[in-house]
Amino acid sequence: MQSISAIYSKLATPGKVVITTHQKPDPDAMGSSLGLYHLLVQLGHEVQVISPTNWAAFLEWMPGCDRVLDFERNLQKCESILFAANWIFCLDFNTLSRTKRMAELLQKAPGEKVLIDHHREPETTAFTYGISDTSKSSTCEMVYDFIMQGGYEERINEAIMQCLYAGIIGDTGSFRFPTATATVHEMVAHFKRKGLQHTIIHEHVYDNFLENRFRFIGHVLTNRLEVNYELNMALMWVTKQDLLRFQIKTGDTEGLVNYPLGIQGIKLSALIIDRDEKRKWSFRSKGAFDCNTFARRFFNGGGHFNAAGGESDESLEANLKKFREEIAAFKNQLQSI
Ligand code: 5GP
Ligand code: MN
Repeated sequence: MQSISAIYSKLATPGKVVITTHQKPDPDAMGSSLGLYHLLVQLGHEVQVISPTNWAAFLEWMPGCDRVLDFERNLQKCESILFAANWIFCLDFNTLSRTKRMAELLQKAPGEKVLIDHHREPETTAFTYGISDTSKSSTCEMVYDFIMQGGYEERINEAIMQCLYAGIIGDTGSFRFPTATATVHEMVAHFKRKGLQHTIIHEHVYDNFLENRFRFIGHVLTNRLEVNYELNMALMWVTKQDLLRFQIKTGDTEGLVNYPLGIQGIKLSALIIDRDEKRKWSFRSKGAFDCNTFARRFFNGGGHFNAAGGESDESLEANLKKFREEIAAFKNQLQSI
């Protein structure tokens, strides 16, 4: 994978561009894709954002979101756009498998693939150009750096700021995680001086759910939460029936895994959801517990040190059993400060 700085001069020639991201995009995935979209359109490119799957309703407000294609609902159209693209930007994921059913097409598509990502252990051989920096708070921060380093500061408009800010608050937990560095705050200060109205973005992302989601969270915290004070760990599970009963849609479970970290002493929160064809894990930690390695080793996943995910074909019960067995060996990390 060559340095991303090599593409600036090539991008001066308008071409066909696809921007894609990981399945079930979160605010960082969608925000970085649309932030870059609003830059490249200004540079004269023909740009299409393709999401491998559908996305949460709380992202719909983002400028340009109405033009994003859901791959699973537009298979033929997406395939022909992908194969015609000169450039394929891959944002906020480290392995092609994170694009689910799109992975095979991405591999075959002839366009130059460019990675912009902050996850651990990227599959760098799959990309011609790119930047992978695990020290970055978010892919949105990296798109901001890409814009600034390319000398495009004057192109930063309201749409770009809104999209990138949403990803920053998503991935830094609204500036509370250690990844919210001085440079992140400097970027936000830059946006504020340019007139960004930030409060409305928090409202779009966090205050826009339906009542059923809160009833569902109440149900999970009451009936599906197991707290283990010996291991400083909390485990939650959501059954298929729970999802049906509360009419849970994509995005409604976002943030649920964080709740148990608010319990005194808890260092790890694990959540498994019995979704469609797979069981999906989320892990969040504070301090010394490495979620990325744990997810990679036991649940076919990965992510960051303090936030990772995984998936499994096995039953919910088999997953819970495996988790309870494996986690016991991590007592030391979970007891350290
Ligand atoms: P979440 O728990 O919000 O789904 O994901 C937490 C972090 O781990 C995100 O950065 C996400 O991209 C990553 N992640 C989630 N699921 C998987 C997975 O199955 N495989 C890999 N490699 N990363 C994942
Ligand atoms: Mn991210």
